Amino acid sequence: MHSFAPQSVCVLGSTGSIGVSTLDVLARHPDRYSVFALTARERVEDLAQQCRKYSPRYAVVLEEDRANELRHLLQGEHLPTEVLWGMDALCQVASDSRVSVVMAAIVGAAGLKPTLAAVRGGKKVLLANKESLVMAGPLFMGALAESDAQLLPIDSEHNAIFQCLPYPCKTLESAGVERILLTGSGGPFRTTPPSALDSVTPDEACAHPNWSMGRKISVDSATMMNKGLEFIEACYLFHASPADIEVVVHPQSIVHSMVQYRDGSLLAQMGNPDMRTPIAHALSFPDRIDSGVAALDLIRQGRLDFEAPDEARFPCLRLAREAMEVGGSAPTVLNAANEVAVEAFLNGQLPFTGIARLIEKVMKTSEVVELTDLNAVELADRIARERACDILEELYGVSEDQPCPQSRSM
Ligand code: NAD
Ligand code: MG
Repeated sequence: MHSFAPQSVCVLGSTGSIGVSTLDVLARHPDRYSVFALTARERVEDLAQQCRKYSPRYAVVLEEDRANELRHLLQGEHLPTEVLWGMDALCQVASDSRVSVVMAAIVGAAGLKPTLAAVRGGKKVLLANKESLVMAGPLFMGALAESDAQLLPIDSEHNAIFQCLPYPCKTLESAGVERILLTGSGGPFRTTPPSALDSVTPDEACAHPNWSMGRKISVDSATMMNKGLEFIEACYLFHASPADIEVVVHPQSIVHSMVQYRDGSLLAQMGNPDMRTPIAHALSFPDRIDSGVAALDLIRQGRLDFEAPDEARFPCLRLAREAMEVGGSAPTVLNAANEVAVEAFLNGQLPFTGIARLIEKVMKTSEVVELTDLNAVELADRIARERACDILEELYGVSEDQPCPQSRSM
């Protein structure tokens, strides 16, 4: 039995796929963790239900209307929960002095400010929101170095790499690492003929063979932009250069990534594809706690396959690597263009193959600047979204009643 006072946890994006898995793990360890704040953008009813179950001190939504809805739902229930709204409130609960651990599981650029607030507040930050690192990597890692915060990767691949590296790991070179092998399943269209990709629907793109996830990351997995974003994420997290990282397609999603050492050793972290494993690992690090995930049965699994990625079929992988090689605001532009493209695809405004085409056009016509501060990130993000909308309209046309999706910037 754990004898310390429970650690107080803030879950940003608690109604999402990662948020729900996080609460599932927390509920298994009430002696170790208590829930301080839950946050969401919509799905207010789910959030109300979570408040009833976890009695957080705060529940935060993005908009005032939603806050009123939530207050109405919780009226007369005598919960300790105060309802707040807005970006400032998100940043406030993520950096509150009473919080020890912050799960950063908002999707997209909207997660950047609260996640940075948690880093600057010196929290133990569990990073699921890869977009915030991709769009503001140098700034984010700079803030981390200047703070007492501890950053633990939740993305299963990065969590696997973290587990295969010594801790602490100052540089890959000094640890004897030759390269990092970043694995990816190849998504639902790994073997679909390229000619059939033009007509795939959002539901087909979101039907991932191994993982159940939110819709944005599901589309990213189908284009393999998810692997591209993860490539950039790994460069920042592990102080790696693009040449240090190789993407390997592994359709079964059992090996979550690997680290190749100078002496010929190849360390892999394996497990059933269930995000509760990396969540439990990061929550309790360096301890190990129950996650609710069944042990991997390798005999039943039978075989593990590996192949090289097909960059002709998945141009997003190349675009992400190029953005990281260019540096500066190029990854910011890539991320912003991708967010607009994915939302347009989900809205039926853009064919699947148009996602990569749109991103490439935005990247080719964007100026690369240095990311000196958050304003520079914000500006690069906004200009890239505007450019993506112009190009979307030019190439595919958008109607009055369904304008270009720009709503989810930071
Ligand atoms: P999701 O869409 O299921 O959930 C997103 C959460 O963020 C929800 O609670 C939503 O209400 C909230 N949110 C959305 N927009 C917001 C905004 N503008 N402001 C404030 N809150 C907002 O997404 P998910 O699949 O849980 O993914 C969350 C993050 O974790 C993403 O960055 C994703 O790339 C990353 N991730 C997810 C998985 C997975 O298995 N789902 C795996 C690795 C990494
Ligand atoms: Mg991942």
